[in-house]
Amino acid sequence: FWVVFEGADGVGKTTQIEALAAHLSGPAGGGHRVLTTREPGGTDLGVELRQAIMHGDHVAPRAEALLYAADRAHHIATKVRPALEDGQVVLQDRYLDSSIVYQGGARGLGDMVEEISLWATEGLLPDLTIVLDMEPDPSRMARDLDRVERETIEKAATMRQTFLTLASRDPGRYAVVDAGRPVESVAGDVAVAVMDAMAA
Ligand code: C5P
Ligand code: MG
Repeated sequence: FWVVFEGADGVGKTTQIEALAAHLSGPAGGGHRVLTTREPGGTDLGVELRQAIMHGDHVAPRAEALLYAADRAHHIATKVRPALEDGQVVLQDRYLDSSIVYQGGARGLGDMVEEISLWATEGLLPDLTIVLDMEPDPSRMARDLDRVERETIEKAATMRQTFLTLASRDPGRYAVVDAGRPVESVAGDVAVAVMDAMAA
């Protein structure tokens, strides 16, 4: 069973993955064998590709998209697929939807990003995607903002909306969880969504 966590930077994906891994591997969660992993950088090659991607602002957008796709192709083929075939539960930080939001949306590369990614992974899709949803930077919403600040928040709002739209496209394979609450409340909802999906 394969669960992907998506959502903006800072919504708590890593924290929630750790909490869910502890739950699912314990007796109350069924004593599963759990693999946690991430993109980009879930493999040795991926760590090198992640460094190349984070090289700086001067990586051309199409090169960046292909580096993400290369990371993903290798990650899925050498780590995720084998773990799933071995019966492990895989909990993954970011996947296809992040590419649609960041490379497709923010970098303006459009629909081709999804196609490249599906080619890279031979179409493998998670059993469940958890979208951790939060209002972008609510502490700053009410203040007087300059143009750059406004644009930053507008961009964040657009990215948030894209994650939600992707979730609404295929509701049976998504759970949207309000991440603007205490960590334990979020973890409780995540655990219920995952246990329900595993039982279905
Ligand atoms: O989730 P993580 O902290 O590993 O992501 C690192 C950065 O890479 C994030 O700031 C995110 O904006 C970016 N990213 C991206 N496209 C992806 C995945 C992550 O631009 N497909
Ligand atoms: Mg993180």
